[in-house]
Amino acid sequence: MKIFDLTIERLEIPFKLSFSHASATRNMTDSIIVKAKTQQNVGYGESCPRIYVTNETYQSVSTFFQTHKSSLIVSISNLVSLKLWISEHRNGIDRNPAAWCAIELSLLDLLAKELNCTVESLLQLPELSGSYDYTAVLGDSSLDGFSKLVERYNLMGFVDFKIKLTGDIEHDKAKCDLVVGKVKHARIRLDANNLWYTSDEAISYMRELGHSIFAIEEPLQANNYDDLLSISTELGLKIILDESFLRLQQFSYLLDTPDKWIINIRVSKMGGLLRSIDIVNKAKQLQIDCIVGAQVGETTILTRSALTVVNAYRDVIIAQEGGCGTYLLKHDICDPILMFTAGGKITEGQVASLGERGFGLIMHSPQV
Ligand SMILES: [Mg+2]
Repeated sequence: MKIFDLTIERLEIPFKLSFSHASATRNMTDSIIVKAKTQQNVGYGESCPRIYVTNETYQSVSTFFQTHKSSLIVSISNLVSLKLWISEHRNGIDRNPAAWCAIELSLLDLLAKELNCTVESLLQLPELSGSYDYTAVLGDSSLDGFSKLVERYNLMGFVDFKIKLTGDIEHDKAKCDLVVGKVKHARIRLDANNLWYTSDEAISYMRELGHSIFAIEEPLQANNYDDLLSISTELGLKIILDESFLRLQQFSYLLDTPDKWIINIRVSKMGGLLRSIDIVNKAKQLQIDCIVGAQVGETTILTRSALTVVNAYRDVIIAQEGGCGTYLLKHDICDPILMFTAGGKITEGQVASLGERGFGLIMHSPQV
């Protein structure tokens, strides 16, 4: 394969409603789209750089892209050369995971299209099959708005809920009460988005909350593994690592206590699909559960790439997030649009509507 051009652009699509959590409020998507071209085909990749997740911005992504563009065009001709490039640039990718994600996804899509096969076949992973169950992720809002959203999710048949905490105990309590009151047999987990500074603060807040939940995500400032472990032990629940888990080397903090952790794998923050697969593979060996998460406002490109991971590792992946599509976005850029339907599922039928080359998507937006 001979790459003819690589381009980058910023994609901003307004939301139908805004989404808030402890680190940010967002009312439009902020994605990066990379296009990789040969004479015959175009591959598309997406990522969502977030300053509060990987310390990346559009500017840092753009700089990374321009720095490496020529080298990528000259060096990448097949999967072997792509993997070699990744291993030779590991430190740079560690610091710029979202920048790399959009590039990598575009190259995987392109390589598979050139070979007339799916990305799964290119990577020697099982072809997509079955359906995909999503968690209802509840951002912060007024109680009235929150209540309506819970009702909608309940009517759709969701049973798995993630509630974003705010640090306002009465408000957070009321939100947990609402979910427990409206949804029979709800499985609830919480995401604090790095709210607290000490384990004592987090522990006393959770005790005051008084709800039975199965896990809490990122209660402290990122990377305080010892304090996170104290919270887990004290409260008897698992800690979900999101901002505190971005690369393979961070397994060293989890080796002695694998049963205390769940890793939230988001393809964008992990630095693409190949690194996400390496991480879930290692987690499987260590018997650490994983959740495949998402970026707020991601398009079908990232939603589709996450299916590759879930499909190949259903035995370690205990939940999946995202799949909001045009429930959140005013429009998507792909055809088909992948988003959950009744029961909180992306169905077998939706998956069957994907094409059989690359990620199986057609771009139809004038922006792309
Ligand atoms: Mg999170």
